[in-house]
Amino acid sequence: MTDSTEPATPTPAASAAPSPTGRRNATPVAAAAAVRVRFCPSPTGVPHVGLARTALFNWAFARHHHGSLVFRIEDTDIARDSEESYQMLVDVLGWLGLSWDEGPDIGGPHAPYRQSQRMDIYADVAARLHRAGHAYECFCTPEELDQRREAARTAGQPSGYDGHCRNLTHADRDRARAQGREPVLRFRMPGHTITFTDLVRGELSFAPEHVPDYVLVRANAHPLYTLVNPVDDALMGITHVLRGEDLLSSTPRQIALHAALADIGVGVGAPIAFGHLPYVMGEGNRKLSKRDPESNLLLYRERGFLPEGLLNYLALLGWSIAEDRDIFDMSEMVEAFDIARVNPNPARFDLRKCEAINAAHLRQLDPGDFANRLVPHLQAARLLADPVPAEDAALLAAAAPLVQQRMVTLGEAVGMLGFLFRAETDFRVESEAIESLGTEDGRVLDAAEATLEELGDFSAAGVQAALRAALVDSLGLKPKLAFGPVRIAVTGRRVSPPLFESIELLGRERTLARIRALRAALG
Ligand code: GLU
Ligand code: ZN
Repeated sequence: MTDSTEPATPTPAASAAPSPTGRRNATPVAAAAAVRVRFCPSPTGVPHVGLARTALFNWAFARHHHGSLVFRIEDTDIARDSEESYQMLVDVLGWLGLSWDEGPDIGGPHAPYRQSQRMDIYADVAARLHRAGHAYECFCTPEELDQRREAARTAGQPSGYDGHCRNLTHADRDRARAQGREPVLRFRMPGHTITFTDLVRGELSFAPEHVPDYVLVRANAHPLYTLVNPVDDALMGITHVLRGEDLLSSTPRQIALHAALADIGVGVGAPIAFGHLPYVMGEGNRKLSKRDPESNLLLYRERGFLPEGLLNYLALLGWSIAEDRDIFDMSEMVEAFDIARVNPNPARFDLRKCEAINAAHLRQLDPGDFANRLVPHLQAARLLADPVPAEDAALLAAAAPLVQQRMVTLGEAVGMLGFLFRAETDFRVESEAIESLGTEDGRVLDAAEATLEELGDFSAAGVQAALRAALVDSLGLKPKLAFGPVRIAVTGRRVSPPLFESIELLGRERTLARIRALRAALG
């Protein structure tokens, strides 16, 4: 930037731009304009629960108001952003079924939607803010800033940037440059209290001493989040910003910057409403962190959570559909969603509750749909081929109803139904199940083998009647002792889907082979 592009005297933003309140009053029509919200993650690390909650609330808000959801990628931090992370984000949001109307993958009227491709826009806006006096060059070195911050702290004064370079003269700047100093571009805060009505928290005020002038562009010309996020919100016509409470402290700065952007004609100049979603707390009453294992969204997919189950739970992190109601689907959420009813208090993340809600959604699935959703999990465990052979598909359709009411996640099907899909050569009885048996269980298996060899009606009811007669009535055993060894023989585990139905599905040959094998193992 050259000095000739600067005004002789910097214009204080307070007089250059109308106050946020003034703008709000001046543009009443904007309040009725179509809702446009955005979801704008930075592609770092693995997608996490907090991010999905933010995406969900924005999505529900957009859909409720028949507005648009803009998906924007904030990838200006070259050191931390990764393409892999971006792919995971798109992937996991797609899995959750959250759709957006504009974004890097589908384009839109404000493309590109990846900030790394918008650098020339930011350079231009930064230059215009500078020219208009809304931003100024700051030559302070990090050491000088540290020293003055320390001194202010010791003196019990606010320790933010002290405005040192706000009113440098042409000569001051020349001198600084001659010393080899390279300036950052700093935003000139308007110097008055900033008050806004948070959609979740109500009216909030920030006194100027708590919101000092802040850096927009680094000395190496790299624009920061502080600049690019509000610039894109303005350019993309965003009407409502819904995001986590951790970003609340940036809101007064952004409101001031939006006023300055309106002043220089960047964006439509309509006010943006802000709503800050509550913190999500993890174990031990501390904030759930990206690094907590229960934050990792990919694990939920791997374990076999249903997208609708997980979304239902995420919706409860700050919102509820009704006092006495936990289970709902996304169309009901869209219908009922009201940002004003989001609870500002921290929400507690409770994995047990998340699982219980998922289980409720699993139980509600149509049986055919439920069976289909098990397929990828059984395939991942190599229990089913891809494509699924017709015979196995029929077996799965018959077996799925045996477990649908007992499962928390789809992944449990591998343990529960594995015995049906495993070839006899791969089938193993779990060692802890074998250890629970004694030699006296041998005669139970002998009797079961003899009975099932002879049995004419191999239906679940037929098997049940015959085994009951042979083991409970004739041997005089309690049902638990009578059927336990048989269960272990055919399913390989002490806990399994209902036994007689399992035997029917497994069929006579495989059942007998397994009973004989366990019998032999017991000696
Ligand atoms: N890229 C920012 C983040 O992921 C977006 C914050 C915002 O919503 O303004 O934290
Ligand atoms: Zn300075």
